[in-house]
Amino acid sequence: METTPEVLINKAQRILLICHTNPDGDAVGSLLGMGWAMRELGKQCVLACSDPVPPIYHYLPGSEMVTSQPQGPFDLIITLDCSDLRRLGSVYESSHLSGVPIINIDHHITNANFGTVNLVDAKATSTAEVVLGLLRHLGISLNQTIATCLLNGIVTDTRGFSTPNTTRKSMEAAIALMDAGAPLAKITDQVFNRRPLADIRLWAEALHTVRLEGPIIWAEITPAMRLECGFTEEGDAGLANFLITANEAEIAVVFSQQTDGRIEVGMRSVPSVDVSTVALDFGGGGHPQAAGFSINGSLGEVREQVIAALKQAWLEQNSSS
Ligand code: 5GP
Ligand code: MN
Repeated sequence: METTPEVLINKAQRILLICHTNPDGDAVGSLLGMGWAMRELGKQCVLACSDPVPPIYHYLPGSEMVTSQPQGPFDLIITLDCSDLRRLGSVYESSHLSGVPIINIDHHITNANFGTVNLVDAKATSTAEVVLGLLRHLGISLNQTIATCLLNGIVTDTRGFSTPNTTRKSMEAAIALMDAGAPLAKITDQVFNRRPLADIRLWAEALHTVRLEGPIIWAEITPAMRLECGFTEEGDAGLANFLITANEAEIAVVFSQQTDGRIEVGMRSVPSVDVSTVALDFGGGGHPQAAGFSINGSLGEVREQVIAALKQAWLEQNSSS
């Protein structure tokens, strides 16, 4: 008999929920929302992420419970917003979890369907929207806590209901979450209008490196810049989202060198260009207009390779349209 999320959840007593490394608002919101919902069913839950929850999401209920060192045993794993097992990072690698069934909940078109059950909807705006569908299916009623976490996910990934994949269905999902008490204006303000000063200082440094090469705008972030600005997170502080607002660009790339030598490559594109294929070619993943990967090498080498691949993809996509 084919197994379902319902069967796996009913059988489970102690569930490990994991979202992706360097988590964004959808990863954190889905993780917390799903965690609160599983507690409503009387399940014991441990919420995990390999990296800390960014400060802007500390306002979400339960964010302080997310750990990078979950203590087993677990009889079920639920992954959220992860397109492949590597995206779970050290939490999965170091926790002896092989053999434990996985429910893979995601919305990335590049998802590798690595779960025992895969709940992947590439048409959904966010993993939070997929979680909401599952909760409805399981008959779990929403409360303000669950709703706030899930709306945080939808608002983040739709950039405030402005991305081309924002559908009537996603607006209706948001209305249901607001009806359950989720404060839309507060969430939007928190996600888009608040940021640590360190982020602004990092932009100030990184913006000096901005270059335009044909349709591609790019910038670099080094460990020295992060240190100088007191920026303790791994991401790009939202810089790629800012760069793609340049009228002259169709693709934006930020190369963030990590202290261990890896380079995190974050890409954005205008709606007529798809950068997810390039991310997949480099072993990463994402969405047509927002994708990324991580790679070893020097900043110069990686930049040359990635920009060449993006130019090639851009040319191919323009000649076929
Ligand atoms: P960001 O630039 O915000 O870090 O990531 C944009 C999108 O690309 C997100 O949907 C994220 O899940 C995906 N992404 C970023 N880095 C990686 C990566 O290293 N591997 C995979 N599979 N996806 C990534
Ligand atoms: Mn997402």
